[in-house]
Amino acid sequence: MQFIDLGRQYEKIQDKVKDNINKVLDHKQFIMGPEVEKLEYRLAEYTKRRYAFACSSGTDALVIPLMAYGLTKKDAVFVPAFTFYATAESVNLAGGTPVFVDSNETYNMSPEELEKTICAVLKKGEYTPRGIIAVDLFGLPADYDKIIKIAGKYDLFLIEDGAQSFGAVYKGEKACKFGDVSATSFFPAKPLGCYGDGGAIFTDNDELAEKINSIRVHGQGENRYHNIRIGLNGRLDTMQAAILLAKLEIFDEEVKLRQRAAGFYNERLKDIMDIPIVPENCISAWGQYSLLAKTEKERDWIITQLKGKGIPVMVYYPIPLHKQPVYEEDNLDIALPVCEKYSKCIFSLPMHPYLTEKEIDSICSSLISSIKVIGA
Ligand SMILES: *Cc1c(COP(=O)(O)O)cnc(C)c1O
Repeated sequence: MQFIDLGRQYEKIQDKVKDNINKVLDHKQFIMGPEVEKLEYRLAEYTKRRYAFACSSGTDALVIPLMAYGLTKKDAVFVPAFTFYATAESVNLAGGTPVFVDSNETYNMSPEELEKTICAVLKKGEYTPRGIIAVDLFGLPADYDKIIKIAGKYDLFLIEDGAQSFGAVYKGEKACKFGDVSATSFFPAKPLGCYGDGGAIFTDNDELAEKINSIRVHGQGENRYHNIRIGLNGRLDTMQAAILLAKLEIFDEEVKLRQRAAGFYNERLKDIMDIPIVPENCISAWGQYSLLAKTEKERDWIITQLKGKGIPVMVYYPIPLHKQPVYEEDNLDIALPVCEKYSKCIFSLPMHPYLTEKEIDSICSSLISSIKVIGA
């Protein structure tokens, strides 16, 4: 069994993928070919954003807009501590300082903790609050009603890190529609993945769009050889755009299949443990299906048992960002108890659109019997 089975997806779409790749091989516009523009049009349409920019990775999809905001080391950008490292790393890469916030029971950043952390930074006066990156962890959109209010109240920019949530819905709007800018990733294991690295940036703001477009290609001005700011090489390959166009055709159906798989898990596990929370009017893209064991010991036991039966299990994330060695010298003397507990007790089960009910049955019965053994 595979944790994410890209082979089953490929079986379904291979004719279209090969067709699209062959077209690129024929026209040979490998950089910024027509497929890139077509993909950007589709992505903007899908998310109802005015602008979509395809780019080289999910990380660059965060770095580029952060560079557009012109951060200095004294500028604080608030990020959840319980996320993939790129969320915080992108702030450092763009010259700012990430400030870590604890999570709530949805695994996403707690809006209450966010406001407390902003107030603490303001009180201390060492850093200037500039922005927030809200992450839609495991595919579930963050609590945007509350987070947008906080961003407005403290005059902060808001970036949605939708790397794991493309296809999700929050109160009628698709993921990547929230905040001043949104970022997503097309890393192969994400809900919409390509066959290499890729990402996209979304905004409705004209001025920001112009800066993002320029930064993506070496800070270009009137043309590529007229440079008006520091940028980077952040384009998406035409080949990857061609692959994504093929995958987009079945994407809505795949999001539905993910709901089905998550529903099977929920049904079988709801009496045994706390199933993932999906607030009303939200649809998760189920980037991951994650559960909490009672203790670290129980978690590690469950993983050993399931792996012994050929069921892959992953831990996202074993170290919250404020505890990462890279931030050691910053002497972050903070306790974020909720995400510290999550990192010890969390585990994720196989999740992809092509899991069968039978496979989910077998995963769940193995999980349930391993818990019963440790509980006895
Ligand atoms: C994967 C991921 C990224 C980075 O995306 P890449 O395409 O791997 O650079 C950023 N944020 C989160 C939350 C992610 O899961």
